[in-house]
Amino acid sequence: MRDQYDGIILGTGHNALVLLAYLARNGLRVVAVEKSNVVGGGLATEENPRFPGFFHNTHSFFHRALTAMPWYRDLELERHGLQYVEPELNAAVILPDGRSLEWWTSLDKTMDSFSEFSKKDGESLRNWVDEIRPIVERILLPEAQSPPISPQRRRELLSRSPLGRKLLSIAVRSPLEFVEQEFDDDVIRAGLLFFNGLREIDLRLKGFGHSIPALLAGRHTAQMCRGGSAKLAQALVDDIHEHGGEVRTGLEPKSILVRQDQAVGIELHQGDRIMAKAFVASGLNPQQTFLQLLNADATTRQVRAQAEGYQYNLLCPLFALNLALHEPPRYKAAEKRPELNRAFMVILGLERFAQFHEILGAHEEGEIPSPTIMWGACPTLFDPDQAPPNKHTAFMWEKAPYALHGSPQNWDIEKDRHGQELLHLWSQFAPNLTSDVVIDSFTRSPLDTERRLPNMREGDLLVGSLGNNQVGFNRPFAGAGQYRTPVRGLYLCGASTHPGGNITGLCGYNAARVISADLDLPIWWNPPQAEDSFKSL
Ligand SMILES: Cc1cc2nc3c(=O)[nH]c(=O)nc-3n(C[C@H](O)[C@H](O)[C@H](O)COP(=O)(O)OP(=O)(O)OC[C@H]3O[C@@H](n4cnc5c(N)ncnc54)[C@H](O)[C@@H]3O)c2cc1C
Repeated sequence: MRDQYDGIILGTGHNALVLLAYLARNGLRVVAVEKSNVVGGGLATEENPRFPGFFHNTHSFFHRALTAMPWYRDLELERHGLQYVEPELNAAVILPDGRSLEWWTSLDKTMDSFSEFSKKDGESLRNWVDEIRPIVERILLPEAQSPPISPQRRRELLSRSPLGRKLLSIAVRSPLEFVEQEFDDDVIRAGLLFFNGLREIDLRLKGFGHSIPALLAGRHTAQMCRGGSAKLAQALVDDIHEHGGEVRTGLEPKSILVRQDQAVGIELHQGDRIMAKAFVASGLNPQQTFLQLLNADATTRQVRAQAEGYQYNLLCPLFALNLALHEPPRYKAAEKRPELNRAFMVILGLERFAQFHEILGAHEEGEIPSPTIMWGACPTLFDPDQAPPNKHTAFMWEKAPYALHGSPQNWDIEKDRHGQELLHLWSQFAPNLTSDVVIDSFTRSPLDTERRLPNMREGDLLVGSLGNNQVGFNRPFAGAGQYRTPVRGLYLCGASTHPGGNITGLCGYNAARVISADLDLPIWWNPPQAEDSFKSL
């Protein structure tokens, strides 16, 4: 095989697919090359091989405000049958004593729930939401949806306006300090930290004090894809095909070809070459891109050292227990509060602020945190088609260390036993989860995540920390931010670029603007301009 394209994209994570969809609509002949036999990366829905008809979302499931993403609108993905569901009781911490702290799609209802724990904290929540909402709309959203501005320029622009200065002053703290200083009740503090921790910002990082109130004030409610997360990948692929783009699976790149300092194609492990007239864009992590795929002489020693030094999140790896069920989990707490049986994201085992430090300590030691905090959902309550008629699927996730007892290989020995422990704990909250109701179960460890998606090094599902200065203009590292790299024609588009991991598609969306501009192609969509927004504050 020897092919010639305008551009090649490495990997078919959703960011790569979003980038490809925009460029295909720009008339370029572009192909995405995927090592696995399925597309979508973190958008995975697998049919249970032992019990056909049960579909499990083995990677991402809670897609926050997905339908509000600009690419969802621009690419008109609903034309391809894509549908999202946004359950009203969006998240609930269920306590052992039967009380629950709840996040609703309605802020008033969320406030009512907070006020049951502490009137003062309920009011603080309202005040913070009011205060930060304009910051979210006029600063943080345009910023996430634009190529990043240099830190100096950003600070200079934000310092010009009261709103910008307010953000800078709120951000000074860490999320941990924010919660500790602004809220009193232990359950509320724990809930806010965990709710934010689910987004995986390191809660100790100064400079992110705005992240928790921004999450509460913005449109960040969790949604799920009808038919399973993989349907989003399928809709993107359908759109790509409709516009002449190509997606090839089962092909693993061996190297990125560079001629006269310009990326010109890739060589595959099979020996074939695919050539690119204009660009190669990598949806992989910096170590894969700069150390495994580029020859040492294609970059400087400094760039290689920067890629080598790219860091991953200690707290991000997940352990997952997946179930096929005769009936949905029925929570004891729902006897008094029936709504809880329809809660979308259910969080169990979370009661105290100090648990954050306990989780952190356990991860540092390579041990599974105790007591267990888990969160998950029963997708079939909201989308019955993900299981046979009147049957259900459900899952729970737990933050767990990558190097268990010092080595990730230990997961292969311990994961099934640990899955049973998790099920036992879950059944203390939902007593109907007995062997009569559980048809099948399987686990996925942080090591399994890395095996499936090697870009998620050390099982880090965000593909890199926001610490170590790996944020905004400097993500993944200084000189390779803004989606361009030191090698001409080589771009980055995965979660190790701004604004980072999770299913946002914004890395690919922003990369599309940068690549189109470099190739003198029209920007046919209407992206926000962060710099203009900042100037008009
Ligand atoms: C268990 C789990 C649960 C999660 N839950 C959520 C959630 O609920 N909500 C949320 O928003 N996010 C969640 N995430 C995170 C989210 O899935 C990721 O942050 C996101 O998928 C990253 O997207 P990406 O576009 O960078 O690429 P990825 O989705 O990581 O895809 C990368 C692609 O590149 C391919 N690839 C890797 N190496 C190579 C190679 N050498 N050559 C060619 N191809 C290669 C992979 O096979 C994959 O297809 C979860 C992740 C995991 C693992």
